[in-house]
Amino acid sequence: MPSTSIDFRSDTVTSPSEGMREAMASAPVGDDVYGEDPSVAALQDRVANLIGKAAGLYLPSGTQSNLVALMTHCARGEEFIASQQAHCYKYEAGGAAVLGSIQPQPVETLADGTMPLEAIEAAIKPDDMHFAPTRLLALENTIGGKVLPAAFVSEATTLARAHGLALHLDGARIFNAAVASGVDAGALTAPFDSVSVCLSKGLGAPVGSVLVGSCDFIEKATRLRKMLGGGMRQAGIVAAAGLYALEHNIARLADDHARARRLAEGLAAYEAIDVDLPQTNIVFLRVDPSVSEAFSAHLRSAGIAVSGRYGMQRWVTHLDISDADIDRTLAVVADFFGR
Ligand SMILES: *Cc1c(COP(=O)(O)O)cnc(C)c1O
Repeated sequence: MPSTSIDFRSDTVTSPSEGMREAMASAPVGDDVYGEDPSVAALQDRVANLIGKAAGLYLPSGTQSNLVALMTHCARGEEFIASQQAHCYKYEAGGAAVLGSIQPQPVETLADGTMPLEAIEAAIKPDDMHFAPTRLLALENTIGGKVLPAAFVSEATTLARAHGLALHLDGARIFNAAVASGVDAGALTAPFDSVSVCLSKGLGAPVGSVLVGSCDFIEKATRLRKMLGGGMRQAGIVAAAGLYALEHNIARLADDHARARRLAEGLAAYEAIDVDLPQTNIVFLRVDPSVSEAFSAHLRSAGIAVSGRYGMQRWVTHLDISDADIDRTLAVVADFFGR
């Protein structure tokens, strides 16, 4: 294995930069369960401000942030609607059902990350004792690396409101959506009551998410965070990394998007590779089954790591992938295909 390894598995694999580590080392801290950590308070305010909500809550992970949001919106025995492919339905170990006694109502996902409006409407239960009361529609932006079409967000949220539902946005990569679409994050998230933002994905912080919403919502969420074991003490040490990330790493997401695009365009030159042109930092590709194993082995031996399941590979660009890494990767791929 060559010493330089290029890790495309996820945008969660980044290491804190020198500047980020310095910000962490000098962060003022206090006991945040007592609400006394100034760095956590500053981070919560900053994200609430960027998203345009009244208050924020710092949580250890995006999974816990989504769970706290779902449990704040929905009581035991109530139901939330989400896409079949939504992280909060599919990739969080069933936490809402297990820990919140909240019934998930997944709805089919279309190729662009949306759901058919008729399917959402049909999933909303009438007031009848046979049904779990439907309380919430949860959307995700970006979803599978795609920016949700604005018309869909507007129509789906209007429909949900007409039925009295609350609205949550899993905005783990909302700044990727904002940078890719040229629309302010606050505008993208305006229809939602709550938004969860990951600091540990493209923004490059080591851990943490911030959930934002109204003051009342965040007050209830704070109790649930404690219940779920997410109350942290001198968390300013890691919150400072989040503040640094918001300051330095939002605009540069455009570089990740450009690199993902260059990667996809380079890969598209090969007949054995079927690649979707990315909108943001995630490239999906299918490699012809006749060569896919050899191709994967070739990448591995060149120190290039990718992730994949069911014949679909996912290559993600991030802070620790440079232009030179893209060049080297395309050269390694060219070497495999003999050109
Ligand atoms: C990563 C991710 C999460 C969960 O974040 P963790 O910090 O890994 O728990 C939630 N939603 C989406 C869309 C994500 O990509």
